[in-house]
Amino acid sequence: MTVSAPVYLDHHATTPCDPAVLAAMQPCFSQPRGRGREVQALEDAKLAIAGLIGASPEALTLTSGATESNNLVLQGVSHLAQKIGRTEILISALEHESVFRTAQALEIRGLSVKTIPATAEGLITPDAVAELAGAQTLLIAVMAANHEIGTIQPVAAIAEIAHRAGALFHCDATQAAGRIPLDVAQTGADFLCFSAHKIYGPQGIGALYMRPRLPFSLPRLMQGGGRQKLRPGTIPLALAVGFGEACRIAADCRDAEAIRLRELDALMLSELQTALPQIRLNGAWEPRLPGSLNITIPDIDAAALVLDLAEKICFSTGSACREGGDEPSPILRAIGLDDEAIYGSMRFSSGRQTTREDIVFAARTLAEAVCDQAAAL
Ligand code: PMP
Repeated sequence: MTVSAPVYLDHHATTPCDPAVLAAMQPCFSQPRGRGREVQALEDAKLAIAGLIGASPEALTLTSGATESNNLVLQGVSHLAQKIGRTEILISALEHESVFRTAQALEIRGLSVKTIPATAEGLITPDAVAELAGAQTLLIAVMAANHEIGTIQPVAAIAEIAHRAGALFHCDATQAAGRIPLDVAQTGADFLCFSAHKIYGPQGIGALYMRPRLPFSLPRLMQGGGRQKLRPGTIPLALAVGFGEACRIAADCRDAEAIRLRELDALMLSELQTALPQIRLNGAWEPRLPGSLNITIPDIDAAALVLDLAEKICFSTGSACREGGDEPSPILRAIGLDDEAIYGSMRFSSGRQTTREDIVFAARTLAEAVCDQAAAL
């Protein structure tokens, strides 16, 4: 079996830049182009970025990434609360911290934030949203696909409920864009964001879609000049060009890659289940992002495994290292795992360069390490 270790199974964290993306960006760093050609390059890039989600380029704002986009939407909408006369924000229990921490900060400013519960399978049902949406609801935020367990949410049905309640709908599509079909008209989102570095583009750039002809515009949170209304400052041309190229490539290979990655997920799961029958899969098997597997191995210290296997496999755990220690994942908590199960949970996310050999190697290496750890206890 020929694999080049470490096998990288952390594509939900970040993806390696595609060589074609690097090649497209390189001249932007080193060759001055003159204003006319820069404007053209930027327009081409925006066309490709918008094309990935079926939007028009005018509806996009380029940002530094999905964290900034989520902040622009949640903080921006909070400034409209008085004008619109609504004071409540609903967010799903599965949101990324750039949504839930921003929502927490808004609570301190007087908005009421409610959490839409997830099922044990990691799904946000339209019924759960409908139960909470009401006359005070200003914004509903539900992500398209989850970054830890990979479950895909029924966002079109949820957007409909939001609109029926007179609320706005925001969709964090950072994990979904480029991996599953996504179209802003079909999702019905008023706001939608994604990020280049999850789709083999550069880190430091993302896009925020805002539905044209909304009855108001989001306020700027930062002031200054530049070409964009919502977000001032110089647009990083090289990153925009790279993002555009990454979107073109993703649009071309998404469907074939989705089939291949689902096969790799099934292979990894069956290899692991054979070697370690005690494992539990977190999140529904369907509908799930291709290249996404999250499992719990009872009585195992997942963080120790990540360190022990660093030279062989790159993957991540159900707890995140933050200042002050390890925090158990709120996502895994939201689907009913207790802290012990969370500390034994791990995520494997494969990508374009992952092969069947990589998966078999990773599963067998992991199984061996788990047996060694259990024997040492
Ligand atoms: N939302 C989701 C669902 C994510 O997975 C991430 C990245 N882990 C983010 C937002 C933040 O993205 P960025 O790194 O572009 O700020």
